Amino acid sequence: MLRIYDTRTRQVEEIAPGRAVRMYTCGPTVYRYAHVGNLRTYLLSDLIRRVLERRRVRVLACQNITDVGHLVDDDPDTDAEPETGAEPQTGADLAAGADPGAGAGADKVVRQARAEGRSARELARFYEDAFRRDTATLNLRPPEHTPRATETIDLMIELIAKLIEQGHAYAVPDGSVFFDVRTFPTYGEISGNRLDDLRPAHRIDTVDPRKRFHADWALWKPADGELTWDSPWGRGFPGWHVECSAMSLRFLGSHIDLHIGGMDLRFPHHEDERAQSDAAAGHEVVRHWVHGEHLLFEGRKMAKSTGNVVLLSDVVAAGLDPLAVRMAFLEHRYRQQLNLTWDTLRAADRTVRRWRTRVAEWAESPSEPMAADYVERVEAAFDDDLDTPTALRILRDLERDESVAPGAKFESFLHLDQLLGLDLSTEIGKVRVLPPGAGELLEARERAREAKDWKEADRLRDELAELGVRVSDTPEGQTWA
Ligand code: AMP
Ligand code: ZN
Repeated sequence: MLRIYDTRTRQVEEIAPGRAVRMYTCGPTVYRYAHVGNLRTYLLSDLIRRVLERRRVRVLACQNITDVGHLVDDDPDTDAEPETGAEPQTGADLAAGADPGAGAGADKVVRQARAEGRSARELARFYEDAFRRDTATLNLRPPEHTPRATETIDLMIELIAKLIEQGHAYAVPDGSVFFDVRTFPTYGEISGNRLDDLRPAHRIDTVDPRKRFHADWALWKPADGELTWDSPWGRGFPGWHVECSAMSLRFLGSHIDLHIGGMDLRFPHHEDERAQSDAAAGHEVVRHWVHGEHLLFEGRKMAKSTGNVVLLSDVVAAGLDPLAVRMAFLEHRYRQQLNLTWDTLRAADRTVRRWRTRVAEWAESPSEPMAADYVERVEAAFDDDLDTPTALRILRDLERDESVAPGAKFESFLHLDQLLGLDLSTEIGKVRVLPPGAGELLEARERAREAKDWKEADRLRDELAELGVRVSDTPEGQTWA
């Protein structure tokens, strides 16, 4: 069974499935295209799902769409400015009746919509569609539930009201509601950021006088204008953290096996989610917290603010198969930082294409049972905290192992593609298979070329032509058609 590293317990834990595994992944904030770093995190959820489904475990997945509530200053390394136009505005924390697209507390979606000169809803749907296309291109299996924050505001209002009633949250006169973190003593277990260690802001003028304690966070923010709703506390919109608690509790219930996201979400997002959900449910809601390490590009975390973003469309524009991204990610374990380069992507592209060609060639041979020993070892590597680099090494060994019949390699690769998700069967029927004896002649010609024996190379070219194989020489070596 799958074993995976649990950030909260700091050890590799076995995922013990009940009747089904319920998993929640913090979904995208749809104010821009997802970059391949974001997609690495969503691949983590997909791999977990595929491994469990291979074991015939039913998976129930929920991945929200954040189309309101994620503020510019919710993330430490967030984008300083919108993509184009719109003057960045500064000001105190969001005050009563403030504009959600402006000031230090600006909503990412609303601010970007202003910059692009369209409505926030239109912008969010546009990037949500783009996200769905990208995830489908990467063969990420779609979650059962993909609720939008803007369509589940009633769930958040309900949860906030419950937290106030239980004494875990408080409303203040300007229409804000805050979570009272000191009512949740185990705060900080995921990230290690315990309350005693969290220092208040040094400068007195940056301490928010509305809060009982500096580490309390907003569940509801007063605002007027685009993407705001009426609530018992006045008009406004919910905070990003409370959205995930409300949607996960509603769509998966109060016992959730896995909660997944990128490393940067450990704190404060996941600490705050855990506090809200556990406080409301009265027990530990999430069994395992799982985090994927970041994707770096040119040595720095891939982020729009850093300006080192690569989109899936950039990979395609460079002439590479989009699944080369998937392959490049599989070459590294999800818990390692991965410094992506174009060379890595090109190498991954070559491997994907070569495997597809091999699979098509092996398909021409008589069918054989799978190479059980290899298949079991690959599956065991996936079970072992998603050790995908080891899985790929075993597959390369199988590819080269001459003692395994081509038909057995064919069955094994196709079977394991259910985990890999690399579309390895796409070339079947398209690849031209060499006639008998031609492979040996090609190898002999390669050797003749290396020895600069051009006469022999020409003779072998003629011999191959008689078999119907046309050879050409390119800077990368000889090719045939
Ligand atoms: P966002 O749309 O900004 O809320 O981010 C979506 C997901 O991508 C979150 O789980 C983030 O933790 C994750 N993420 C952001 N940047 C990276 C990166 N460079 N590498 C891997 N995951 C990332
Ligand atoms: Zn979340």
